[in-house]
Amino acid sequence: MGAGTDRFLEPVRLNCPWCGSEQLSVRVRVPDLLQGKPGVFTLEQCADCGHVFQNPRLSLEGLEFYYRDFYDGRGGEGAGTVFGRLGDSYRRRAEMLRPFTVHPPTSWLDVGTGHGHFCNAARAIWPHTRFDGLDMGDGVGEAERRGWVETGFQGQFPEFAEKLAGRYEVVSMYHYLEHTRDPLTELDTAAAVLAPGGFLAIELPDPESRMARLLGSAWLPWFQPQHQHLIPAANLREALTDRGFTVLAEEHGPAHQGNDFFGAVALTTTRLAPDPDRPWAPPATPGRRALAHAVRAAALPCFAGAAVLDAVRTLAARRTDGGNAYRMLARRDVDGGPTAAGEDR
Ligand SMILES: [Zn+2]
Repeated sequence: MGAGTDRFLEPVRLNCPWCGSEQLSVRVRVPDLLQGKPGVFTLEQCADCGHVFQNPRLSLEGLEFYYRDFYDGRGGEGAGTVFGRLGDSYRRRAEMLRPFTVHPPTSWLDVGTGHGHFCNAARAIWPHTRFDGLDMGDGVGEAERRGWVETGFQGQFPEFAEKLAGRYEVVSMYHYLEHTRDPLTELDTAAAVLAPGGFLAIELPDPESRMARLLGSAWLPWFQPQHQHLIPAANLREALTDRGFTVLAEEHGPAHQGNDFFGAVALTTTRLAPDPDRPWAPPATPGRRALAHAVRAAALPCFAGAAVLDAVRTLAARRTDGGNAYRMLARRDVDGGPTAAGEDR
């Protein structure tokens, strides 16, 4: 495979996709520890605005290759189990709107909805709201068949800007923007599909998290090669204001996902001993198989310790309002339309 992965990467860019600065430096360099597919990926950070992005980034062909079997196919069932367990955080996301609205929203579009787990959980909080979902994967069709979303749109969000213009009272993007190639265009699209006065709810991993510095390349939310952009909260606030939004609320502690240490052990285990049976690797030798087995056995007590550390860390994150992720809720100004969006770009 070796040189064969070159076609999965675009040329290196020389300036920051967020602010245009050329003051870039390498933040982390990691292989694919999610699926153990070939290739090494680099996240660079802008010294001027703090934006972190994959550079060189994956080509469309690369995205197809590295996403394949993760959310659908071979990995789909596992991904569904993980997302299915997030019930409590789904409810908290849905509740974030409550202090700012008198009437329940009539229409809500969840972008990057996956299999529609959030929409299904949020109906318990907002039973009179129509939840639609959008995703590039085919899980969204399944979500519609199960009745977890009313309508499932499959494709890239910006392609729907015109068709869905002004249709929604709420648009949510939970752990979505970091996967996109151009988050600013996604925000333009959100502004376009929202009715004036509509709400935009966003949740993202926080590249300014202390744990990101502490754990280095073993910090799970770098999530290479899937995450294309990691956006500091101040940058998102500014981009929203530029597009005619008023930021209503920002939560750091409550958005914390308690898996920093567990994730670090999992990534390190995978790094030392990749799954010998992954279909994209050469057939495993008995030696490799034995090594993988030994490393995994040795990792078991580390997982137990990591779970304890994560529980402690989650309590601290809630107390100090500082975690590995953040949530932002913004309202589209009544007089600020999509035409006001991104004029400074
Ligand atoms: Zn920048």
